[in-house]
Amino acid sequence: MSRKGILTIISGFSGVGKGTLVNNLMNMYDNYALSISATTRNKREGEVDKVNYFFMTKEEFESKIENNEFLEYANYVGNYYGTPKAYVEEMLNEGKDVLLEIEIQGAMKVKEIMKDALLIFVMPPSAKVLKDRLVGRGTETKEVIDKRLLRAIEESEGIENYDYILVNDNLDESTKRLHDIINVQHDASSRNYKFINVIREDIKNFSEGD
Ligand code: 5GP
Repeated sequence: MSRKGILTIISGFSGVGKGTLVNNLMNMYDNYALSISATTRNKREGEVDKVNYFFMTKEEFESKIENNEFLEYANYVGNYYGTPKAYVEEMLNEGKDVLLEIEIQGAMKVKEIMKDALLIFVMPPSAKVLKDRLVGRGTETKEVIDKRLLRAIEESEGIENYDYILVNDNLDESTKRLHDIINVQHDASSRNYKFINVIREDIKNFSEGD
């Protein structure tokens, strides 16, 4: 039976460690494909164009919106972020489990279009851990950190729309749990209707042949 990939959306507050979790999945297992998003935000130190993001101007981004090149896009703290559609579709058809690390508005849009997308929200073990991580990362100004913390409160209001909440208290354990959640989804009944119907037909044919 050929299996189609699972589209998994991973969201969570800024600084919660989603990026590390996703990188761990990519490094440890070979069934995943990571979608690289487009963004208009400035490159952080150490980030590489086409590896971390497709960095582009607002004009470039808006022309891609016009051309319907995004599966979804959203505005986050003053910048555009979007998921290029073609790559996601191609990888799912190849049977890869595709990972999207996106924020909540985008997650809701994808869920509307792709009903069997799996939505996972990563939470910090405490608010203090979150703030310490954001400050410790040293990549944002205090003003941006404050905006991102405020945004965290807003995002938490949509959490009930997610299928799973993953508390990231230990990276290795959380990576393993995330992998298990995605894997078990391949057996979900809603994803296997076609297969169930084929078996059902075959059984019927056998019994009619008796
Ligand atoms: P950051 O600036 O920290 O890299 O990302 C800010 C937020 O944008 C994060 O919550 C991240 O998950 C989200 N994000 C990254 N790429 C996309 C995307 O393609 N679409 C949407 N909707 N959000 C994204």
